[in-house]
Amino acid sequence: MSETGKVHLVGAGPGDPDLLTLRAARLIAEARIIVHDGLVDPAILALARPDARLVSVAKRRAHHTLPQEDICALLVQEARRGHDVVRLKGGDPLVFGRGGEEAEACHAAGVPVEIVPGISAANGAAAAAQIALTHRDAASIVSFVAGQCKGLSEQDWAGLAGKGRTLVIYMGVKTAPQIAEKLMADGLAPQTPVAVIENAARPEMRVLRGMLAGLPDLVERELVVSPALIVIGEVTARENAAVAALASEVAA
Ligand code: SAH
Repeated sequence: MSETGKVHLVGAGPGDPDLLTLRAARLIAEARIIVHDGLVDPAILALARPDARLVSVAKRRAHHTLPQEDICALLVQEARRGHDVVRLKGGDPLVFGRGGEEAEACHAAGVPVEIVPGISAANGAAAAAQIALTHRDAASIVSFVAGQCKGLSEQDWAGLAGKGRTLVIYMGVKTAPQIAEKLMADGLAPQTPVAVIENAARPEMRVLRGMLAGLPDLVERELVVSPALIVIGEVTARENAAVAALASEVAA
């Protein structure tokens, strides 16, 4: 019987292959089997060997091509056949990536796991849009939340957004109206600055800015598509101020 293989849960970052870690790039280039989800950019999959087996387990909102249990079972099965498996996920495997569930399934089956971090969408988007998630003058707390999850309305987000805080919402495009309503019901000012960053760190990136009360309208009017992040807080307005200051300096 062949020895059990290892499962590598690897973060693919927000899209640009340049934003892979060296370890992720090496594992992708060496892998014989890569199990990837839909968010992984084709440019990253292109780094795989020509003879690598690429298995897509693409997940779309409310439409799971492969249920999570089946993904876990597939990883365990391949490892038990003696294969080292690269499980490639968008961003970081442990941020809204179900990496925890897959690691647990492997541990329970006695399959060794290595986790390779990736640049999460929040970090990739912040850098690409030049929005500081924390800033000494504007925010010393940053929170990441999922905008599309079971029981969104019962989730307690009170205190996560507001003065001195930055809230980053993953998977929130479809639920933008409920999100804006929920935050305002929690007492957040309708004028709180927001930014929507679509396709961060990809050539087609868009950064849209507005105010909390206008968020649903902004998303609808601009036909924002997934993947996109919503960032709420004063930090999203700073770049504008800096750019405006720079422009007036140049004009003066
Ligand atoms: N593990 C991933 C998150 C997976 S959840 C990570 O750490 O980034 C999927 C959500 O991530 C998307 O709905 C979107 O909100 C966000 N996302 C992923 N890639 C993105 C990108 N390139 N630009 C903007 N948002 C992105």
